[in-house]
Amino acid sequence: MITWTVIGSGTHKANTGRSSPGHLVRCGEAAVLVDCGSGTFRGVLCAGRAPETLDACLVTHLHPDHIADLLPLLFRLRNEAKKTGPRELRLFGPPGTADYVEALARLHAPYLEHDAFTLSVEEGEGGEFVIGELAISPFPVAHGVAAVGYVFTDEGGAKVVYSGDTGLSAELIRRAAGADLLVAEASFPNGAQKPFHLTPEWAASIAAEASVRRLALVHLNPEMDGIDIVAQCGGSFKGEVIICRDGMSIESGRAT
Ligand SMILES: [Zn+2]
Ligand SMILES: [Zn+2]
Repeated sequence: MITWTVIGSGTHKANTGRSSPGHLVRCGEAAVLVDCGSGTFRGVLCAGRAPETLDACLVTHLHPDHIADLLPLLFRLRNEAKKTGPRELRLFGPPGTADYVEALARLHAPYLEHDAFTLSVEEGEGGEFVIGELAISPFPVAHGVAAVGYVFTDEGGAKVVYSGDTGLSAELIRRAAGADLLVAEASFPNGAQKPFHLTPEWAASIAAEASVRRLALVHLNPEMDGIDIVAQCGGSFKGEVIICRDGMSIESGRAT
């Protein structure tokens, strides 16, 4: 079983109801942070997990609303390692992630580095890696910059797919096929769409084409709270639509 906890369901326009993008994905003993926007670090604590126990951090792209809390996360892990002994964090992201982290370390030297803290950075838009019972595959999405979504599967056959930030994407439909849960962005209301983002109608059409069981909408700008998001999904998708809130958890069983 995969447990998906929404830490931040908002965008760069975080408000009192929605924090910037961040999600905690747990499966068995494994815990993986997915995106790391402002407020995520505290949100991990609120979800009952100490940041230093995370097995990995996955970022979808390098826009500030998805990576702002990397700095405090790395600082805490490095300080914990210094105090309590060796620690390692695996960081995954699209091409450019290693350069970004290197620049961050240079800017904040020596505060992100210590002999006891190992940060391994892996970047790419394909392949598969395994963390505990979770198999994770990045895939490219349509966001106008290097950006990936992720497919998560567990040993029991559960499948969860995260779109990250994207516009309409054939690759997202292909990779989400048959998923139990698609966590997709819906940044703007129907008719007010902007390049490289989705509306509820578009997210629902992707969910329908991919035949997923449930659709959970995230990356909701404040203006989305004033509209009937489920109604905007239209009639194309027959499954359950979940409008995410910060702090909520969704459990995923076997894919249908
Ligand atoms: Zn974003
Ligand atoms: Zn973005």
